[in-house]
Parts: sequence; structure tokens; C-alpha cells
Amino acid sequence: MTNTNQVPKRDGEAPLISLVIPMLNERDGIDALFSAIIEGVKNVPARFEIVVVDDGSTDGTHEVIEEKLKCFSQWRLLSLSRNFGQQPAYRAGLEEATGDAVIFMEADLQDPPSLIAELFEEWQKGYKVVTGVRMSRAEKGMRRWAFDLYHVLFYRLTDRVMPANSGMYSLIDRVVVDHLLKTPEINLFIPALKNWFGYSQTTVKYARLDRAVGQPKQTLRKLVNYGVDGLTSFSDLPLQWI
Ligand code: UDP
Ligand code: MG
Repeated sequence: MTNTNQVPKRDGEAPLISLVIPMLNERDGIDALFSAIIEGVKNVPARFEIVVVDDGSTDGTHEVIEEKLKCFSQWRLLSLSRNFGQQPAYRAGLEEATGDAVIFMEADLQDPPSLIAELFEEWQKGYKVVTGVRMSRAEKGMRRWAFDLYHVLFYRLTDRVMPANSGMYSLIDRVVVDHLLKTPEINLFIPALKNWFGYSQTTVKYARLDRAVGQPKQTLRKLVNYGVDGLTSFSDLPLQWI
């Protein structure tokens, strides 16, 4: 991994970072998420906009966020017409984001906002892709086993396109955002695509906690589709096996 160019300063203005957060029925965790983000960005020398993408929630997530927007001008809400799934929701948020860099983050606090400072610091050094790497996971049982197996398989079959044990939690520079937005594919697999474009890349480590409230919104069916999309986008080995 090399670090080539520094981020240019623009007229003395602090850089703008967009947090893109998809939500499917996350009403009960919104207060804790807001507080953790406010705390997490407190000492980061940047301006922030937070783009929440409501991915067809039916639990009042939309209304709770609308209420919050009355007090927090830097938060924005994008409401999708139905549930499209996590990756399309991230992509829709990316289209709305105007920042010099974008951070992808889950709504359930599994991606700790306290890591934002480190993601930002690495970006300031000139890295265009800063990927969060999970040093530990809170998931247990079958779910944990399936995740671990998938990560090993993915890492091997895809020629290590993305760092091992990483997911969506990451920061990407505007230059990578623009590449992602120009990608014509419908089923984007952003965790790997963001690294596939190249540029200078690094990682930051974190402990992935359990979801703060509620049940995972990625159902088994969605997770399997997501996994298959990822593998088939970045490896033709499964096709050759068939
Ligand atoms: N999510 C979404 N649409 C979906 C499924 C999930 O926007 O169809 C959001 C969800 O609200 C959360 C993030 O995507 O903010 C990750 O989902 P979850 O935490 O349920 O899954 P995990 O990746 O932790 O298994
Ligand atoms: Mg989660």
C-alpha cells in the first residue's frame, strides 16, 4: 500500500465528509446512533453531512428522522419508494452525498462512530480508500460460522480484491465515489468494488460489536443473495465449477 498524494486544502475551509447510512426499520436505535455520531465527530476537524437512506421502512423510521431533522441541519433524509436492499440503498445515498469523502456506516452501531476520527486521519494523509477491518465479531452460532466461511472463501476466490475481514465500514475519497457512480452494473458489491478501482489504500482496525437494538435486517435470503452477488462479480470460479 502506498501513500502518494496529500488531500488538497480548499480556501482554508474544512473538508466536507458525508456519512451515508441506510436504514430498514431502525427506529428504536436512532437516538443512540445520533448521540454516538455527534460524540464521534466532535474532535474531527471536518464538516459533516449525514445522509440517511430510508430503505422502505414500515416502523416509523422515516417519521423519527424527520423529527430529528428539525434540530439537526446537517442531516438529510432520502426515502426510497420501497425496500430495495442494503447495497442499492448505499448507492442511492452515494448519489445524494456531496462530500469530499464518503463514509459508509450501518445504522445499528456495529460500525462504531468512534472510528470516524481514524478513517479521517488516514484520508488526510492522502489515502483514497480507508477500509475498516474487523479484529473481532460479536455474532455467534451459525451466523458467525457462515460469515467466517464466506470471508475465507471470498478472500481466496477473488484474488484478495478487498482486505480480509472487511465489509462496508470504510471511507472513500470523492475520486472513488465518482468511479462508483459511473459503474453501470445494477447489483453493485461496494465492499470489494471500492478497492478494485485501485488508488492508494489502507486499513484501520476495529472491534465489531453486536447490533445495539433489534434484529438484523439482512435476512438469510438477503445475505445469501448479497454473498452470491459478491462472489460472482469478482470471481468466475463458481461459474467454472458449474
Ligand atoms: N438495511 C437496509 N435495507 C435492507 C437491509 C438492511 O437499508 O434491506 C440496512 C440496515 O438498516 C443497517 C444496514 O443496512 O443499517 C446493515 O444491515 P444489518 O445490520 O441488518 O445487517 P448486518 O450486515 O449487520 O448483518
Ligand atoms: Mg448490522
